[in-house]
Amino acid sequence: MAEFDLIELIRERTAQPRGDVLLGMGDDAALLKPPAGQQLVACTDTLVEDVHFSRGTAPADLGWKSLAVNLSDLAAMGATPAWAMLALTLPQDGRRYVESFADGFAQLARAHAVALVGGDTTQGPLSITVSAFGFVPEGRALLRSGARVDHAVFVTGTLGDAAGALCCLDRGDPRAGALLSAPANTREELLVRLRRPEPRIDAGLALRDLASACIDVSDGLLADLAHICAASEVGAVIEADALPLSSALLAMFDADERRSFALNGGDDYELCFTASVDRADRIAADFARLGFGATRIGRIVAESGVRLRDANGNALTIPRHGWQHFAS
Ligand code: ADP
Ligand code: MG
Repeated sequence: MAEFDLIELIRERTAQPRGDVLLGMGDDAALLKPPAGQQLVACTDTLVEDVHFSRGTAPADLGWKSLAVNLSDLAAMGATPAWAMLALTLPQDGRRYVESFADGFAQLARAHAVALVGGDTTQGPLSITVSAFGFVPEGRALLRSGARVDHAVFVTGTLGDAAGALCCLDRGDPRAGALLSAPANTREELLVRLRRPEPRIDAGLALRDLASACIDVSDGLLADLAHICAASEVGAVIEADALPLSSALLAMFDADERRSFALNGGDDYELCFTASVDRADRIAADFARLGFGATRIGRIVAESGVRLRDANGNALTIPRHGWQHFAS
């Protein structure tokens, strides 16, 4: 199948009409009309085989996830998603592969009314780059830089599930065998978090009125909270026992493993945010309504760096660091 047939196939399978797309796929570039009074929020993320996903990952899951990681960045900015672009590099011109990929992509795109407005299709080692665009009312974007001393630190949903899933899939991991004997639905609960992360768009929108700073947890809680602290020139103290964990993670891993996954595991795509303490009740109520909840896990302090405490206030050592490319 030739390049243009693949592009046509992607176009058909991802079709999603939007009034603000004056010209979508098919010309040299897209022609788009952002709403008056709103700021355009833009981001991009690449997924590379053997770096971000293993060989043999289902194409539909990749289609979903390549968009999800971008929508997660828009969520962290408090943006409403609108458009996406897709640069796809494939080793072969596999029609079936591209169909499944496009279907997975479209499933998430439709859930958030995102139109695929352009991209590029090339041959080479499998790599996927998606860019996403959304809107925020003028001056209302959530930044990393707004955390202040004594603000509370929160995280949505649960942490560490994707890291737990990776552990299940890694045949080389000594724990993988024991995990195979866990109930199928428990394992599946973790695997779905790795394969089909849900970008917390509704949370980001709610947080425009509530949060002082926000980031999505893609590289691990400690690493990502450290970005908020650096940008805001503050530090944070996290209560290890307050970390929200799923029942699946609790069932399958011991306390040390769970803690390490929750603190350092990447790929969770929850939102970590800070807010003034007097907003805690409203946050709890609003997020209970959203279904996935938000948990208060610590507070912002003046001393730089992120520290970990137990329930008695004693300092705990931090296991190891989150994911970083080019780290020695
Ligand atoms: P050009 O050579 O002008 O860059 P292309 O032949 O690369 O154009 O692409 C033709 C049209 O198809 C363009 O509108 C482009 O945005 C779109 N397109 C190409 N590949 C993809 C893709 N993987 N996903 C979405 N749109 C794509
Ligand atoms: Mg091109």
